[in-house]
Amino acid sequence: MKIEKYQILIIIFLFFTQLSYSQKTKNIPPEKPKLVIGIVIDQMRYDYIHRFWDKYDKKGFKRLINEGTFCKNANLNYLFTQTGPGHATIFTGTNPSIHGIVGNEWYVHLSSKRIYCVSDENVSTLGGKLNNGNFSPKRMFVTTIGDELKLSNNKKSKVIGISMKERAAILSAGHVANAAYWYDSYTGNWISSTYYMDSLPKWVNDFNANKYPDIYLEKEWNTLLPIEQYTESLEDSCVFETGFSNRQITFPYNLMEISKKGKNDKNYSILKYVPYGNTLTTDFALATIINEELGKDDYTDFLIISYSPPDYIGHDYGSLSIEIEDTYLRMDKEIAHFLEFLDEELGKENILIFLTADHGVMLPPDYLKSQKISSGKFKDYYSIALLKSYLNAIYGEGEWVKEYINQQIYLNHNLIEDSKLSLKDFQQKTASFMVQFNGISNTVTSNTLQTTYFDSGILEKMQNSFNQKRSGDVIINLQTGWMETGVYTTTHNTGYTYDTHVPLIWYGWKINRQTINEPVDITDIVPTIATFLNIEFPNGTTGKPIKKLFE
Ligand code: ZN
Ligand code: ZN
Repeated sequence: MKIEKYQILIIIFLFFTQLSYSQKTKNIPPEKPKLVIGIVIDQMRYDYIHRFWDKYDKKGFKRLINEGTFCKNANLNYLFTQTGPGHATIFTGTNPSIHGIVGNEWYVHLSSKRIYCVSDENVSTLGGKLNNGNFSPKRMFVTTIGDELKLSNNKKSKVIGISMKERAAILSAGHVANAAYWYDSYTGNWISSTYYMDSLPKWVNDFNANKYPDIYLEKEWNTLLPIEQYTESLEDSCVFETGFSNRQITFPYNLMEISKKGKNDKNYSILKYVPYGNTLTTDFALATIINEELGKDDYTDFLIISYSPPDYIGHDYGSLSIEIEDTYLRMDKEIAHFLEFLDEELGKENILIFLTADHGVMLPPDYLKSQKISSGKFKDYYSIALLKSYLNAIYGEGEWVKEYINQQIYLNHNLIEDSKLSLKDFQQKTASFMVQFNGISNTVTSNTLQTTYFDSGILEKMQNSFNQKRSGDVIINLQTGWMETGVYTTTHNTGYTYDTHVPLIWYGWKINRQTINEPVDITDIVPTIATFLNIEFPNGTTGKPIKKLFE
């Protein structure tokens, strides 16, 4: 039989399509993933997965869950659920008591100063405004999973952290990281500090030169779907919302107008308060993977992407707003886009993704009140002023209270010692006085936390947040549904489930499709990854590998 030329072509074509088809269906995962990606969504409540489920695309959150492992009961186990402690906890596998990031800020007695968790006056900014880059991880006591990965192979692996918030990028990446990049609200650039390198890589400068923030800030933020379809949320003009910058609380948001500063000046910080900030973060993450060639050699690389805008939007509009629902519908598209990119660039079998959050958030107290649920605002400044008067009346005039930071009271140790008073008694007096105020559930002194061991309940959470060198003399636990007074619609910073319960999803590489209903501690993420990668746990890790992920 004579075979025509075109038939040969068809046979060759069929052979190759069969071959590539069979290669595609096999996709055997390598012994270790080539790239581990930690995605953190700042302030993502667990229930956002289910509340918006029907509106999510099948390629985003649904794909992660339908093809991966979904831990339905993952919680943080400490009191002060803030961004700094959250990121440090996820990536070190231990609690603030051990990693030392007890809050975004704390007070230092020796220098009589408030300290920001990543501040470092010995390093300087690369690529942005002076002082917007004086940051490093030096205040974190322990190593991260990225540190251990690099230490395991003579620093052949690359580890990079990216977030609009510097504390999120820096604390998740760790001490030995190649880089942490964050957003400079002044210039709209992605910047870093001399802690990591002498100058920004060329590709980062090139990326910044494209001025994407200018493009995003010319847009309008309107709802993705017709607004009447946002039936999971309260009405757009809901009175509980404080709104951002110009106090606007209804769609559409004209970003050109809102970000206008002076004649030629632009307020680049606005991008942190709108979903386009997430898109910019993804843009930069993709550029990082391509330019740093992550996942391309035999050494596993580690990339952390922390999305900050959901936190800013959540504070300003609350968890029941159309703004938040729209943020998550757009976040879903962000995830879908990212997964599609990874399919093409690296292949699903070569990457290991976990997605989680640094904390959740409470429903707006004003809303809870309208539903007759106990809630309110603890008048922190007013209460501390009364405390000072009370202490003056008992012990005589003096600066007895040095600082009050997010439910922690720092007393004047020198003055108390000079006055020959017992610090223990002084703390107890302060604690007993404070518990009388509306909104406070209980107070604990540092003396109690240093001398007693708690292994359950809210006192365990208070202990897990407590570090003897950095924490206050009196720790305040608010009642459920209560927050400190502030400009926000709502906030986080408690040990209750609305702040501690976060999504945890695993996807890619050898991850099976399953649901884990058993409780998982967020500190378990890192020992699980270390076991996958055959490396040591970070040096402070207290979590345990999640058994079911190995079945
Ligand atoms: Zn946060
Ligand atoms: Zn927040």
